[in-house]
Amino acid sequence: MKDVLLVKYGEIAMRGKNRLMIENNLIKTIAKNLKPLGDYLTTREQGRFVIECRNDKDIFDYDRVIDVVANILGVTAVCPGIRLEDCSIENIRKMALKHFKENFGEKNLTFKVETKRSNKKYPMTSWQISSDVGGYILNAVDGIKVDVHNPDVTIMVEIRNYSYIYSKIIKGFGGLPIEASAKATLLMSGGIDSPVAGFLSAKRGIEIDAVYFNSPPYTSDRAKQKVIDLAKRLSVFTGGIRLYIVPFTEIQLHIYDCVPPEKMTVFLKRAMLKCAEKIALKNGSLALITGDSVGQVASQTLQAINAIDSACSQLPVLRPLCAMDKQDIVDWARKIKTYDISIRPYEDCCTVFVAKHPETKPKRAIIEKIEAQIPNLEELIDKAVNITEFIDV
Ligand code: ATP
Ligand code: MG
Repeated sequence: MKDVLLVKYGEIAMRGKNRLMIENNLIKTIAKNLKPLGDYLTTREQGRFVIECRNDKDIFDYDRVIDVVANILGVTAVCPGIRLEDCSIENIRKMALKHFKENFGEKNLTFKVETKRSNKKYPMTSWQISSDVGGYILNAVDGIKVDVHNPDVTIMVEIRNYSYIYSKIIKGFGGLPIEASAKATLLMSGGIDSPVAGFLSAKRGIEIDAVYFNSPPYTSDRAKQKVIDLAKRLSVFTGGIRLYIVPFTEIQLHIYDCVPPEKMTVFLKRAMLKCAEKIALKNGSLALITGDSVGQVASQTLQAINAIDSACSQLPVLRPLCAMDKQDIVDWARKIKTYDISIRPYEDCCTVFVAKHPETKPKRAIIEKIEAQIPNLEELIDKAVNITEFIDV
């Protein structure tokens, strides 16, 4: 018998030929994220992954392992339990009883046993196993009753290459596992929205690189650290993120000199998209992602989005939050624990230079015309991209 964590994952099934590759990626992410916790081994077992301590003498740290694995995108649930190499019904009975007593003691509760039998060669049917094991536990523990419809406790028995017994199912975020062949570049400020946009995209299997526009000395090192911390938090779900930090001050000051203040935000955003697109094309991204939500602020009216979007000519810009209410975005931010990082009070480059009354209905044609007259903008953008550094978190 061995302590294990069974890992369930969804949605891969529909991916046909890619399935094996995606499963392997997911195993790699699990192994990578578990590495700091100890020597754990993750293997495949007929539609599940099984995590165990590599060395028999080590103790399985369920709390920490569950916290790591349940967060990884693509994982639908994790179940702490035991694996039996001796799959005889006698052993399953005995071990199911032991599991029951260890986890629930002898209380007045109702229970049932449910069996999944993917090893079709096993000599008993699922129903026979459930009633056999259920009867055995019922006889051996005082004060308990069977309730097959609404039990307090469900003891799960799974018959695969080995047999597994568990009773707790802890839900993950689900979604698709990150696919190495589909990358996008996220424009990530220190705000509440863009990390959520990154998470929701990653949840659809998109691998994320992030770009942050840094404007020292107008923005502080603490503002930058905040973005690094956000990227670290996002990497909990994805297995790792590359964060590019673009020195944006020169571009920003130059634009400030060249355009009317009420149009500043639109030009800043356009410059960001242009830089991000160049970085994205170099790193193999197929799209950009922003945290824009229509109507949230002046720079995110549909007119503004229209006027900003044309800055990007080769890649689509995904805006996963475009139709979400602020409260829903905040709820997500809390759920994925980026919220507390995002509300640290350090300034963003846009807030430093922004006009009191930014134009809410900019016209794309006018914006493009003004932009064409800003001298050296392309050169400054190329220069910033060329000296951009990245960190892998
Ligand atoms: P967020 O909460 O993500 O900061 P926001 O509601 O503050 O968004 P804006 O400041 O208008 O909105 O920014 C819109 C989007 O532009 C952001 O979601 C982000 O994708 C991108 N963005 C803005 N500032 C930066 C920055 N300094 N670095 C990288 N991306 C940025
Ligand atoms: Mg912001």
